[in-house]
Amino acid sequence: MTPSTEINFDNFVQIINGQIRTTAATRHGLNPANRQPKAKVAIATQGDLDDAVTAAKAAFKKWSRVPYEERKKAVLAYADAIDQLRTEFRDLLISEQGKPIPQADAETDAAIEWIRGMAGIELPEDVVEENETRTIVTRYTPIGVVGAIVPWNFPLLLATGKIAPALLTGNVIIVKPSPFTPYCGLKLVELAQQFFPPGVVQSLSGDDNLGPWLTSHPGIDKISFTGSTATGKLVVQSASKTLKRVTLELGGNDPAIVLPDVNVDKVAEKVAFFAFLNSGQICLNLKRIYVHENIYESFKAALVRHGESYKVGDGSESGISHGPLQNEMQYNRVKTFFDDIKDQGWNPITGGEIQPSSGYFIHPTIIDRPADDSRIVVEEPFGPIVPLLSWRDEEEVIERANNTSMGLGASVWSNDLSKAGEIGRRLEAGNVWINTHFDLSPIAPFGGHKESGVGTEWGINGLKGFCNVQTLFLNKHVVS
Ligand code: NAD
Repeated sequence: MTPSTEINFDNFVQIINGQIRTTAATRHGLNPANRQPKAKVAIATQGDLDDAVTAAKAAFKKWSRVPYEERKKAVLAYADAIDQLRTEFRDLLISEQGKPIPQADAETDAAIEWIRGMAGIELPEDVVEENETRTIVTRYTPIGVVGAIVPWNFPLLLATGKIAPALLTGNVIIVKPSPFTPYCGLKLVELAQQFFPPGVVQSLSGDDNLGPWLTSHPGIDKISFTGSTATGKLVVQSASKTLKRVTLELGGNDPAIVLPDVNVDKVAEKVAFFAFLNSGQICLNLKRIYVHENIYESFKAALVRHGESYKVGDGSESGISHGPLQNEMQYNRVKTFFDDIKDQGWNPITGGEIQPSSGYFIHPTIIDRPADDSRIVVEEPFGPIVPLLSWRDEEEVIERANNTSMGLGASVWSNDLSKAGEIGRRLEAGNVWINTHFDLSPIAPFGGHKESGVGTEWGINGLKGFCNVQTLFLNKHVVS
C-alpha cells in the first residue's frame, strides 16, 4: 500500500505486512440501533496470525532502532490524518457502536488527543548513579511484538490508546478489534500504512478463536488487553505459558459517595450522567450510588427527574442522549438484571421495563436501596441499570464502597473539598475523583486496583508498560 492510497469507509480489510489479506470465510457486525448487517470483514486464520507475527518480527528489527524523535514525528502525522477523517470515523463509530453523536464526537476527539498527548511525553534514560568509576543508567527498551486486544465499548479510543504508546516506544503492534465492533480498528490500521513501514502496525479481524490464539502465540511478546475481568483471567493464564508481558484494563464497580452538604439538583444531574453515559457500557460508569440519608429522598427525586429527561434512540439522530446496548449478548445479560426486579423484589424508581424495539434499547433504570449483597450491587451489569443506596456513617460508607473485588474508579461529592479529599484517599481504586468522575488524560496513568486490572496504560507509566527496563553499568576504566 502506498501513501497515496485513498481511504474509503465502505469496505474493511485486515492488513498483514502492509498488504490487504482476504480470507475465504467472512462475517459482519450489526448496527445495534436497527440490527442491520454492516460490511463484511475477514475471519483471520492461524496462518494469518503466523504471517503477521513473522512480518512484525522483521519490522521490529528496524522500527525499534528508529530514533524516538522520528517515531514521534510519524505518530503525530498519523494523528493529523485521523483528524482529517474525523467525521468519517465519528459516523462509523456511531453505526457500529451505537453511541449518540455528542459522545461519538467526544470519543473521536479523545482518540486523536490521546495520540498527540502521549507523543508529548518524554521517556529519557535516567542516570541513577554518576561517580569517577562508573555511570549507572536506566533505559526503557521496546519489548517487541505487541498484541492489542480491544473491547466493543470504545473501539476507536481504546485502539489509538494502545497503538500510539506501542509505536512511540519502538514496539510493533498487531491490533485485534472486538468481533462486535471491528470497523474503526480495521480502518485505523489501514490508514496507519501510510505512515509506518510494513509490519509495524497490522490488524487481524477474527471470531472468538483469535484472542486465545494471540495470547498463546510464542512470537508475541506483550499483550495489551482491555475487556472484562473474566476474560482478563483467561488472558493471564494463556500468556503465562510463554511469560508474555501483560497489561490488563478490566471491569469496574465504581462507587459514588454523596455527602449531605451538596447542591442536590446539580450533583444528581452529574451522578445520573456518569451512571448512564454510553448506556452504562463504560468500565468507569458509576455502578453504586451512596447518598447520605439526610438528603436521600430529595436526591432520589432529582435523579429520577434527570433520568426521565433522557432520550433513548438511534445515536445517529440528533437529540438522542442514550443509544442502544451494543450487542445481543450484552442485551441479554442486562435483561437478567431486569428479570431480577420481579424475582428479587427490587424497587425500580424509574425505568424498570424493557420494551420490544428494532434495536437493543433499554431505558435508564434506578433501583431503590437493594440489599448490599444483591447482584445489582455486587456485579457489573454493564448496562443502564444502577442501585441507589443510603448511608449514615462515614466509616461505614467507606467500608461498603471498598467492599468489592473491583477497584477501577470511585468519586466523592461534597462542598467540603478537604473532607472529600480525605475520603477519596481511603478508597481502593486506581482512579479517584472529587466532584466529578470519568475525567481522564493521555498524560495521566490509567489502571485498576484489585481485579480491575494489572499495570497501567497512558502517561509515562503507560509508556513504560510497553518497555523492558535495562540497567546499563558504564564502567569508566578499561581493564588492563
Ligand atoms: P470481553 O472481555 O468480552 O472482550 C474484550 C476483547 O477480548 C474482545 O476483543 C474479545 O474478542 C477478546 N477476547 C474474548 N475472549 C478472549 C480470550 N479468551 N482471550 C483473548 N481475548 C479474548 O469484554 P467486552 O465485553 O468487549 O468489554 C466489556 C468489558 O470490558 C467490561 O467488563 C468493561 O468494564 C471492560 N472494560 C474495561 C476498560 C478499562 O480500561 N478498564 C475499558 C473498557 C471496557
